[in-house]
Amino acid sequence: MTQRTALVTGGTGGIGTAIIRYLAGQGHRVASNYRDADKAERWRKAMADDGIDVLMVPGDVSDPASCQAMVKAIEAQAGPVDILVNNAGITRDTTFHKMSYEQWTDVINTNLNACFNVTRPVIEGMRARKWGRIVQISSINGQKGQYGQANYAAAKAGMHGFTISLAQENAKFGITVNTVSPGYVGTDMVMAVPEEVREKIVAQIPVGRLGKPEEIAHAVAFFTTDQASWITGANLAINGGHYMGW
Ligand code: NDP
Repeated sequence: MTQRTALVTGGTGGIGTAIIRYLAGQGHRVASNYRDADKAERWRKAMADDGIDVLMVPGDVSDPASCQAMVKAIEAQAGPVDILVNNAGITRDTTFHKMSYEQWTDVINTNLNACFNVTRPVIEGMRARKWGRIVQISSINGQKGQYGQANYAAAKAGMHGFTISLAQENAKFGITVNTVSPGYVGTDMVMAVPEEVREKIVAQIPVGRLGKPEEIAHAVAFFTTDQASWITGANLAINGGHYMGW
């Protein structure tokens, strides 16, 4: 297997950490971003204790200039980014008639505009080298919508529109672009939801439980392999059967 440099945004979060573990396990150099240096250093040390060396650079995915600097710093220290996982994300839930402009733009900037901000500085290099793997972490709620999440569902649905256009533009350059749409996974993002709401969610999941971050990471890692070179423009739902639309 060829060792490559992988950038996973939001690596310190629940799903990001699992993706980084998987990609490191495949032998890749792994990098991620941080906004809070102390938090990032604690996380980096914990990963190092497990034998996983993660290059951490400052970066706010909602800010184009910050992302250009982030990619430049990673490429200077670890070489060109061949694998990109657009994973960082936030929620600012409320029904639309009560939603502020800030709640709307924060979510669009962090989940959707981040795809431009982070992918734009790496795509030309991938095209020149004729190899690349880009994976968007979208959401079940981008596929089916969700009460109280017009901002998040719009951003997450937009991520797949981005995927299928980028996939077409770059297929001839050895670059695959895919989306993974997780259902409800037991990370901080979902554990912040009130318990009674979570219980109602779990009751709607045919498999009968929340997902595990590793179950998302496994699929992301699969998309990044050489063997997955004929899979592009896909949107893989991983949700315990919660939504089976196509
Ligand atoms: P977490 O809240 O655990 O982690 C989110 C990560 O994103 C953190 O590392 C956070 O860093 C980072 N982040 C947030 N905003 C920014 C920003 N502006 N710039 C840089 N980094 C940022 O979330 P999950 O691991 O649960 O979610 C990961 C992805 O999966 C998200 O895109 C989410 O929407 C998606 N998803 C999650 C589901 C779930 O059930 N958990 C279901 C479906 C999709 P910091 O520490 O700086 O805040």
